[in-house]
Amino acid sequence: MMSHIVIDESKCKGCYLCIDECPKKLLKIGEKVNNLGVRLVEFDDPNHECLGCAMCATRCPDLAIKEVYKG
Ligand code: SF4
Ligand code: SF4
Repeated sequence: MMSHIVIDESKCKGCYLCIDECPKKLLKIGEKVNNLGVRLVEFDDPNHECLGCAMCATRCPDLAIKEVYKG
């Protein structure tokens, strides 16, 4: 299994702190808007670069990155 994360879309507050935290720059502001009216952060890893390091999840103040798989 390849490393990846799972974002809880209902919890993301759109602070985007996780974007700067990812050493591989795999997070970006997406087009989708959630129940809180914010544009969700999106995990975009076409080349399977995610390290499963959980730095993004650790940084998120709202525990919105709910799962990190290290593959
Ligand atoms: S740090 Fe958490 S709340 Fe902020 S944009 Fe990232 S996933 Fe959303
Ligand atoms: S687990 Fe690490 S490499 Fe993967 S998206 Fe989060 S910060 Fe980036």
